[in-house]
Amino acid sequence: MLPIEENLLLVRARISAACLAAGRDPASVQLLAVSKTFEALAIKEALAAGQQDFGENYLQEGVDKIAALRGLPLVWHCIGPVQSNKTRLVATHFDWVHSVDRLKIAQRLSEQRDPAQGLLQVCIQVNIDGGPTKAGVMPEHARDLALQIAALPGLRLRGIMSIPEPAPDFAAALAVHLRTRGLFEELQSAGFALDTLSMGMSADLEAAIHSGSTMVRVGSAIFGSRPSPVQGLPH
Ligand SMILES: *Cc1c(COP(=O)(O)O)cnc(C)c1O
Repeated sequence: MLPIEENLLLVRARISAACLAAGRDPASVQLLAVSKTFEALAIKEALAAGQQDFGENYLQEGVDKIAALRGLPLVWHCIGPVQSNKTRLVATHFDWVHSVDRLKIAQRLSEQRDPAQGLLQVCIQVNIDGGPTKAGVMPEHARDLALQIAALPGLRLRGIMSIPEPAPDFAAALAVHLRTRGLFEELQSAGFALDTLSMGMSADLEAAIHSGSTMVRVGSAIFGSRPSPVQGLPH
């Protein structure tokens, strides 16, 4: 077995075990394979092992891979920061964007989306642990942004996404993910038809699934370790 195929089996087993432990249906958690920094060949290998959804952080890199793999049944998710001069790349090439945190970006994405492509699927990125330099809307502003995004014709609001600081242990990871879950439920109660809670990565997917995640974004556990952001690409 190829390493990526083997890793995918292990990650799917972790997801199933976490669902079982949490009393959840394994089909209620989707796996997003985060392929940033890895080549198109690695994505083909994962596709051959049944993985169709891929996440990219760096727009130009992602767009190059999307072009190289055109024609394959892949679903592309933008999970990295989106500057306003890059919205067209996202609107044109991606199926999903998890990292919308301000109205201006959402408006541009909506305007630039070609209706023939169908709606762009959107999650609002929330800065759940309040880091001052981090991307994401503050939780108390998520509802206003959701209202504004829900009114944009080119977008379909699906849920929220969080990238908390790495937690020292399971209990700490659980505590922060439960806050994101709480916000997700508040928005649902406010009337938004949301079905996607994008949280959990290689290190904390179990805690995220216990907290209600519906989509875990897993990179290194599938593709192997990446060059550190300090020496390599910007994080
Ligand atoms: C890189 C990245 C991931 C995957 O992280 P791993 O620790 O490699 O699983 C998930 N989400 C976002 C937003 C990322 O940038």
